[in-house]
Amino acid sequence: MFFQPIAYDEPLFRPPGEARSAILQATIGCAWNKCAFCEMYTAKKFRSRPFTQLKDEIETLAKHYKGHVKKFFLGDGNAFVLSASQLMPILDEINQQFGRLQRISAYALPKDILSKSDQDLRELRQSGIKLLYIGIETGDDELLRLINKSETYHTTLDGILKAQSAGIDTSIMILTGLGGKKYSRQHALHSAEIINQINPRFLSTLTLSLPYGQEHYEVRFKGEYIQQSVKELMEEMKLFIENLHVENVIYRSNHVSNSLALAGTLSKDKNTLLKQIDEALAFTPPDLMPQNPDIL
Ligand code: SF4
Repeated sequence: MFFQPIAYDEPLFRPPGEARSAILQATIGCAWNKCAFCEMYTAKKFRSRPFTQLKDEIETLAKHYKGHVKKFFLGDGNAFVLSASQLMPILDEINQQFGRLQRISAYALPKDILSKSDQDLRELRQSGIKLLYIGIETGDDELLRLINKSETYHTTLDGILKAQSAGIDTSIMILTGLGGKKYSRQHALHSAEIINQINPRFLSTLTLSLPYGQEHYEVRFKGEYIQQSVKELMEEMKLFIENLHVENVIYRSNHVSNSLALAGTLSKDKNTLLKQIDEALAFTPPDLMPQNPDIL
């Protein structure tokens, strides 16, 4: 067990890039909490937390981490749902207690960005919010509806471009295998299309995991879900990458849910990544099915 100077409301999730960050749960759970594939916060009822509690925790975190961490992450699922007037005092307190940090980041839904004005976003950027992690999952409108994401291609695109216009970088996550065999091609192509329009700073692909089993997902997914083999998942990833035309996007597929770990800068390393997928495909038996690791 790692030492933690404050008590977290577990489970606590954070992106891999925030492993060395100070973490504060500005909110608990996810304000939406209804995506068909997601079990991360189903045991938690969403709530924001009183500023007095947050202030005390920031002070405690600063006592232990000031000078040792460069980054600060606001949890839980979509802390960016808080209004600018709720976020600003938290950011001010972090800046006051920690001094100069490289960045403050949070998970966000596109609608959390769209609900803020351009001016709000610029001020939040000035107060340290330099990166938003956004699990868009897919660029395919039909799949977005079937997984109950509460976003569309256009709300996703508009929200992300609005954040980027305010100078906030984005880290976008796509979920390979989200729609199974039936929706695989449209998922890969429309996901590539939206990423091409966004050109995010960071991009990652994770793979759909079914910790509660396939039947549980089939009930929640409003389409016909047919599980893909490992080979089919890699082919979907290949089709997605083949259709990306972006510049200077740092790409990773090193999440524990993936069968194949890839890393590179797109589009510079596109051919190398595609070659790595082809090599993996050559050694993957066609009947190999994905395991469902317990990654909740
Ligand atoms: S995927 Fe994100 S938005 Fe959807 S329920 Fe999970 S945490 Fe909430």
